[in-house]
Amino acid sequence: MKITIIGTGYVGLVTGVCLSEFGFDVTCVDKDDAKIEALSNNVCPIYEPGVEQMLRTNSAAQRLHFTTDVGEATSDADVVFIAVGTPSAENGADVDLSHLFVAVNEIAPNLKRGAVVIVKCTVVAGTAAKVRKKIAELRPDLDFSVVSNPEFLREGSAVDDFMRPDRVVIGTHDERGRDVAEHVYRPLKLQSTPIRITSLEDAELAKYASNAFLAMKVTFINEIADLCEKTGANVMEVADIMGLDERIGDRFLRAGPGFGGSCFPKDSRALAAFASSVGAPQRLVETTVLVNEERKKDMARRVLAALGPQPRGKTVAILGITFKPDTDDVRESPSIEIVSALLAAGVVVRAFDPQAPRDSDGLEQVNWACDPYLAAHDADAVVIATEWNVLRALDLVRLREAMAHPLMIDLRNVHKRKEPARYGFTYVSIGRSIAEAPHYADVERPELRVVGG
Ligand code: NAD
Repeated sequence: MKITIIGTGYVGLVTGVCLSEFGFDVTCVDKDDAKIEALSNNVCPIYEPGVEQMLRTNSAAQRLHFTTDVGEATSDADVVFIAVGTPSAENGADVDLSHLFVAVNEIAPNLKRGAVVIVKCTVVAGTAAKVRKKIAELRPDLDFSVVSNPEFLREGSAVDDFMRPDRVVIGTHDERGRDVAEHVYRPLKLQSTPIRITSLEDAELAKYASNAFLAMKVTFINEIADLCEKTGANVMEVADIMGLDERIGDRFLRAGPGFGGSCFPKDSRALAAFASSVGAPQRLVETTVLVNEERKKDMARRVLAALGPQPRGKTVAILGITFKPDTDDVRESPSIEIVSALLAAGVVVRAFDPQAPRDSDGLEQVNWACDPYLAAHDADAVVIATEWNVLRALDLVRLREAMAHPLMIDLRNVHKRKEPARYGFTYVSIGRSIAEAPHYADVERPELRVVGG
């Protein structure tokens, strides 16, 4: 079976390398010449653990190919996955389906008889039916099928998520679409992955509903964290106790600086806008979006407040720029919001991140350091914004020694509540600080010795 994938980003590339790993003959297409050039030379243009190794193995075995030529890649394909981006539209809310329909227009003239087009993008209910209608208009005589197969992988563990998913969803309107999609996912069925066959619309909506629900769960615990701070409770303890209840579960209950990334924010906004446009407003989702946007701003305010009344001219090291660890994706990351607020207040911003692209929008004025201690050199504060492994076990003596003032703002609760203070830090964390952080100028620089340790 020949499979072509249109769009070789986080989802398309992972889908392509994993399907070739199963033994399928896969061709990945992208309109970005540089990306295809890199992939053709076994260089992975994104940071995603495990992908580069599989890229090399399957390219060497001649099962995985890369091209910018849509026509050539589509004309002999039995299955064409579409995995192009579906970002927010200009109004910041609706989903922009233009990339999807450009891809549909490009593949339609070349589809062979019996081809199955699988929409992998996250799209509002009714989109796959429109894709089907569009192809039928462009190729009235063509016998083809359209399937909706939303992707649930997470960046940072995408290969594992693709290879061992909780479920595979196949939305289909005909037998051939169902049979072909089932054949593609048979390797997963053999390892007992639930494969759910459903309608196009169920598949599309299940994806949005899942993302919005998880976004809401994160936002819920973030608000509980605020309440903990007012009451002296510890959000980590509260979340642990909640998570022991099997009806709730312990995942997505880590309080932090608000959710970011390329999915939760845009998908929650798109679901809210779409639902409202069809007369079924999703008030919980709308509120989640608003609360999360406010939370990111609030995090920036917290950092500024901790710097005291005169932040201008002070230096802050942001440790972690990506929206989560093990990815290079900075889209809608809370760190970007914090950097922007600090720069606007005249603060000098240094940053350390193992993978964030240094030329990302909003980071042009950041001074990059290649390790956390250099970022913290002579700084007035460090902010732990992403829980990269390398930031989970920092040498606190070395860090404090490097800094001008030992103020640590830990937005991921990486450290035990009382630990940084034992090393002389003024420590601000999430959902467990009882007292206001003192103005750093009031904090004496103590001896470099572990207090009580
Ligand atoms: P991405 O922006 O990383 O990649 C999209 C790729 O498509 C880009 O490389 C772009 O150049 C290419 N492209 C656009 N139009 C094209 C065309 N006409 N022909 C060829 N290539 C074209 O996007 P992504 O993060 O992989 O997301 C893809 C879809 O999957 C979106 O709908 C997204 O919501 C969904 N999704 C993403 C994730 C994630 O974690 N990133 C998870 C689940 C679902």
